[in-house]
Amino acid sequence: MKIALVDVDSHNFPNLVLMKLSAWHKNFGDEVTLMSAETALQEENLIFKYDKIYGACVFSGHEEILNELEKRGVHLGGTGTRYREILPYEIEHIMPDYSLYGITDTAYGFLTRGCPRGCSFCLVGQKEGRKSYKVADVSEWWDGQENIKLIDPNLLACSEHLDLLKQLAETGAYVDITQGLDARLLTAKNIELINELKIKNLHFTWDNPRDNFTKSALENFKKLSKVKDRRKMIVYVLVNYWSNLKEDLYRIYWLRENGFEPYVMVYDKINAPKQITKMQRWVNNRRIFNVVKNFEDYDTRIG
Ligand code: SF4
Repeated sequence: MKIALVDVDSHNFPNLVLMKLSAWHKNFGDEVTLMSAETALQEENLIFKYDKIYGACVFSGHEEILNELEKRGVHLGGTGTRYREILPYEIEHIMPDYSLYGITDTAYGFLTRGCPRGCSFCLVGQKEGRKSYKVADVSEWWDGQENIKLIDPNLLACSEHLDLLKQLAETGAYVDITQGLDARLLTAKNIELINELKIKNLHFTWDNPRDNFTKSALENFKKLSKVKDRRKMIVYVLVNYWSNLKEDLYRIYWLRENGFEPYVMVYDKINAPKQITKMQRWVNNRRIFNVVKNFEDYDTRIG
């Protein structure tokens, strides 16, 4: 069969579902083609050229494109669509076909899904459940690659996280925990295991400015952690949701002074005040952030 896989997001992150579908179809000898939504929409008679066309979309905001793709016979799925399909077990747990994106040195995957926190701005609880549960061992999607990118929403909330951290350490691969570790769940024991990882990057979250527990947990982590390079300790700072500028700047300055790299995430960016998006540009552009120490100076300079 001829299979088309349409990556609607087309950003720097490969789509895990498409890589699993690719592996599944290739196992049956099918011919698989990856394309962007743009290419799919330009192809004439797309539906007659392929036996099956799957489209995956993670991020919202692509409604028009998704409607057009659907009209052309694309079978859609993913958190950015209105469809909530779950892959059959045998596809969900297959080794992803990383070659679909030409990736040779990095493995991507989830060890756990779900999160008990239920933060009001986050859909993980609704989509995956209000409990963190193990879904895979590392060997399911890691096959000796030099790097691992972990996409779990809240690894530390899973009762089996110590074993999963051990598995990650045993790979000897450089690990990037991409989605934010819940600092409130750090303990001496799990920090010890995090210290056994070869760390590419650690990401934490400090979403609520009134949550002082995260601040002290980060302070404690800093004392016990082997990671000394601040560039590897990134903390996502949620803004434009329930904080004001003063509270945002407090977290940003505190993190910088205490050896972390703040990374601003703007809620509802399209409608955010200009000053907020300016603050995001200032912080997330490391060259500017390292030179211009105060937001007020940056704000005045760019007008
Ligand atoms: S802790 Fe993170 S994953 Fe869990 S609900 Fe809050 S934002 Fe979502």
